Amino acid sequence: MPYEHVKKVDPDLYESLINELGRQRQNLELIASENFVSQAVLDTAGSIMTNKYAEGYPGRRYYGGCEFVDVAEQLAIDRVKQLFGAEHANVQPHSGASANTAVYYAMLEPGDTILGLDLSHGGHLTHGMKINISGRYYHAEAYQVDPVTEQIDYEVVRKRALEVKPKMIVAGASAYPRALDFKRFRDIADEVGALLFVDMAHIAGLIAAGLHMNPVPYADFVTSTTHKTLRGPRGGIILCKEQYGRKIDSAIFPGLQGGPLMHIIAAKAVAFKEALDPSFNRYQEQVVNNARVLGEALTDHGIDLVSGGTDTHLLLLKLKAAGVTGKEIQDRLDSVHITTNKNTVPFETESPMVTSGLRVGTPAVTTRGMGEEEMREIAELIARAIFDFDASQEEIRQRVARLCERFPLYHDLTC
Ligand SMILES: *Cc1c(COP(=O)(O)O)cnc(C)c1O
Repeated sequence: MPYEHVKKVDPDLYESLINELGRQRQNLELIASENFVSQAVLDTAGSIMTNKYAEGYPGRRYYGGCEFVDVAEQLAIDRVKQLFGAEHANVQPHSGASANTAVYYAMLEPGDTILGLDLSHGGHLTHGMKINISGRYYHAEAYQVDPVTEQIDYEVVRKRALEVKPKMIVAGASAYPRALDFKRFRDIADEVGALLFVDMAHIAGLIAAGLHMNPVPYADFVTSTTHKTLRGPRGGIILCKEQYGRKIDSAIFPGLQGGPLMHIIAAKAVAFKEALDPSFNRYQEQVVNNARVLGEALTDHGIDLVSGGTDTHLLLLKLKAAGVTGKEIQDRLDSVHITTNKNTVPFETESPMVTSGLRVGTPAVTTRGMGEEEMREIAELIARAIFDFDASQEEIRQRVARLCERFPLYHDLTC
């Protein structure tokens, strides 16, 4: 029985573990950055490789006894290079934020200028937010989306780049539903003599499946999380041209981190093998189809979407016209077991704790096996929560329970 040892040693912690398993099973997970790893990834992430210190890199470690963790890390490196066609890979970043910080640390001096997408227009806090290290140690400038199309206008990016002359341009986003054109970013970087850094954290799975332009041929550095659409354990990676390999490796260790998380690196290797399998492409196709169908159905229910739709796995709902805030709808949906997050929208007028937007994504529900029919039902449930909550909340709760029963999760975990 899983977790039986935890139960014996620590009943309090055990209770939270079991409750969290129940929550994952009984809720519709629509947070765009979340997913459910396979049992193989889960087993490896919870394995004895957690015990090993392995400072350094395969074949050149500061500790003895690294012969088997070396195999695991080399498998992860080789597979992720193959997956994205990269020249060099570092699989040790503990998170997406660590990966990004290491890229800056490797290539920039304090005070150098970076140019990234505005946080409230979909950018990430590691792309220059004031109180993040990226905004405190470096001079951060931002570009915004077009007020009408709510999409990136590359001529605007180019003008901003010519104005602020960045040492590094950052492309990539956490809440941007449209495809990014990395070739355009490369042309702009070349024109202003900047390095190009692409953070593909959200869309790495789509890229691995060939459903979104791959940044690797265009960017000097590419980072990603491994736990979002890529469906691996929680962590990060850095891909780069061979010429920057040594600088990146030494920025991660000893620059920024100590011992690598070998159990997580081993689980990354398993996830990358899964991502190299043709079934992963079919999964990603379903993720994108589901997002498109969910968007169309929400639009049919009278809900506005940022940029009018999606090319990816995520959607941003604009709630202003419905007269409700992001926080209100997130709370309502939580109470009927639909998990989402409030999110700022471009040209936001509410505070980040309130917002007038809601971000939803399809990676997790697609992993459970849901398809287009279920997306139409989910759109209806979200619309009822927005427009007619009091009268329909009990019915929504029952229909969510039914959906979750029909698409079970982690049947090997019986407690
Ligand atoms: C999620 C995300 C990150 C950070 O990943 P963590 O693992 O949470 O540190 C970085 N960049 C982008 C674009 C992201 O969406």
